[in-house]
This record gives sequence, structure tokens and C-alpha cells, in this order.
Amino acid sequence: MAQISLQNLRKIYPNGFEAVQPTNFDIADGEFVVLVGPSGCGKSTLLRMVAGLEDITEGSLSINGRQVNNVDPADRDIAMVFQNYALYPHMTVRKNIGYGLKNRKTAPAEIEAKVQEAAKMLNLVEYLDRKPSQLSGGQRQRVAMGRAVVRDPALFLFDEPLSNLDAKLRHQMRIEIKSLQRRLGVTSIYVTHDQVEAMTMADRIIVLNGGQIEQIGTPAEIYHAPASTFVASFMGAPPMNLVEGRLDTGQVMIGDGIALGNAEGTGPVTVGIRPEDVELNDQGSLMFTVDLVEELGAHRLLHGRLAGQPFTVHVGKEVVVGAGDAAVNIKPDSIRLFDVETGAAR
Ligand code: ATP
Repeated sequence: MAQISLQNLRKIYPNGFEAVQPTNFDIADGEFVVLVGPSGCGKSTLLRMVAGLEDITEGSLSINGRQVNNVDPADRDIAMVFQNYALYPHMTVRKNIGYGLKNRKTAPAEIEAKVQEAAKMLNLVEYLDRKPSQLSGGQRQRVAMGRAVVRDPALFLFDEPLSNLDAKLRHQMRIEIKSLQRRLGVTSIYVTHDQVEAMTMADRIIVLNGGQIEQIGTPAEIYHAPASTFVASFMGAPPMNLVEGRLDTGQVMIGDGIALGNAEGTGPVTVGIRPEDVELNDQGSLMFTVDLVEELGAHRLLHGRLAGQPFTVHVGKEVVVGAGDAAVNIKPDSIRLFDVETGAAR
């Protein structure tokens, strides 16, 4: 079990590029933390520093109160699961799963017992004598998990482990990984650029942008109270609508004097509204122009304009609507306000 602490952890690559600005966060014992952000935001660099695969330029990394900046990767008690699985092609599943134990000179009988236990946990028993090339992508992913599990590490690190799988398998594997982690209670750091994985798997999400933390919070906090327009538009599919508005005489206004609710202050403001916080209602006080209906089975997305600005509304499958004008209401208390200049939540 492990408690992780990053203090002013920073990475400057030899070419002078600062990939991770001084970063601080703590991870509790048994917690599942997801690092999420767009390509190039520094999430892999951060993970690789924790793993010991990348030198730490500045700051301190501690595991259970012990600084490990200069501890060899093999001595950090970490198991890492990679995107490409990193399986040995010439070895059977059994040998692949047991490889790390054999390296540590574990007795053969104990290796076999641990491999069997992991294989049962991961539904791999019938594949133990196959080679990786004789497995599906999902099965290979499970072998990579198995190899991590048998080592009984203090910390799991995942680097985009599901990005080579198709959508259906990704969904299945994210449930499997999460429930396995719950069962084993191993502290985990999981890197992804997929905001759905972040939302569904994390106890806490860390959103990175340009080598900096934008926000740390539970999935609900990140979703309902994004700290910035960046987080608001990165988390959620479709993302939060961001509309130009202004504050005037205690009201949030958009367009030609349309009031959305109460707020103190004056001047321009960015107004954030989640697509599902809008309801079609004949008595609604706002006019939403539908340009395109996107049919998704269980629900529909209506793409159009509110007060002349691009806007998306999420409705249930029972709401039948075509292109044209529709009266809508915005759910009270669902409006978020952001500073126009900085994008920070107000
Ligand atoms: P992705 O999702 O595309 O893997 P990421 O968020 O994991 O992105 P990193 O791989 O951590 O991003 O890279 C962060 C930044 O550091 C990127 O701008 C990248 O180009 C840069 N970078 C990575 N490795 C090096 C290196 N060895 N030397 C210089 N710059 C690097």
C-alpha cells in the first residue's frame, strides 16, 4: 500500500523544454487518480518521473514518506501497464505473467500459484499456454494486467492502457481494471487523454494543460464546477456550452437582453451551460434555433444557436424535435460563469 506525494515536481528536458511546471499533489493510500489532458500536456512525463523512467529536474517525489527521486525504478515497488502492453512475443502467457517474479528469484511453485490466481482473476486460465500473437487485444491487455498484479506492488501506474482497443472493449476493460483495483486496494495513477475514462474510473481527476494542473477534484466536482473554460470544454461530451454574456443590474444576460439568472457584478462574462441543463418547454423563455438533430438512440443532441451563438442541447429520446425554433428553459443553478480574459471560474 502506498501514499504518494509530489512536491514542486518539475521536468525540463535536455533541450530546455519545460514539460512539467512545478507540480504539487498528494495521493491517498488506495486512491485511483487519473491524470487527464490533451496531447503534449505532460501527463506521460509526470507518470514516467513517478516510475523512475525519467529523471526529475527539480522537486521531491515521496512514496510512503520516503523520497525516491534517486531510487532505481526496480526498487520503487511499482508495476506499470503500458499502452503497447510490452509483452514478450516468444513467451507464453504463463511466462509473461510470471516474468517479474522469476526475475526476483521467487520459487517456481510460488510463481505458478500466483500466476494461477491472477489468471483466474483476469479470466485467462485457458490461455496460459498461448503466445501473445494468439490472443485478442483485450486478452493481451489482461496479460499485461496480470503481470502487474502478481508482483503485488505498492503502486500501479497505467499509461493509456486501453488506447489500442476498440470502443466496446475499452468500455469493458475500464470496468474490469477499476473493479480489480477496488478489490486489490492498490494505489493507482492512470494516464489518459480520454475524458470518459477519467470520469468513470477516477476517485480523483487531475486535469493537466501545458505542463500545469488546471484542476484537481472528484469527477463530480470537475464536471459540475470546472475551474476554468479549459476544464469545462475538455470534460464532457459534448462539452459545456460557452456563450458570450455580460453581467448587468444583478442579472446574467446574453444576446439582445435575454436574462438567464441572477449574479452580482458588471461587464462581460463567459457563460457556461451543460447541454443536459437545458429543457425544451413550450412555456420556455428562451428561443433556441435547432440546425441539426444528432440521433444517438437513448438520447438526441440538438445542435444550433442560442442568442446567435453556437449551442448544443441534450434531450431524451422521447423529445421529438426537428430543425427550427424551440422554446427552452435553463435549469436554475446550472449556469457557470468564467472570466472572459483568464477563463477562470468566477
Ligand atoms: P500524449 O498524450 O501525446 O502522449 P502527454 O501529455 O503524455 O502527450 P508528454 O509525452 O508528457 O505529453 O510530453 C509533454 C511535452 O514534452 C510535449 O510537448 C513533448 O513534445 C515534450 N517532450 C516529451 N519528451 C521530450 C524529450 N525527450 N525532449 C524534449 N521534449 C520532450
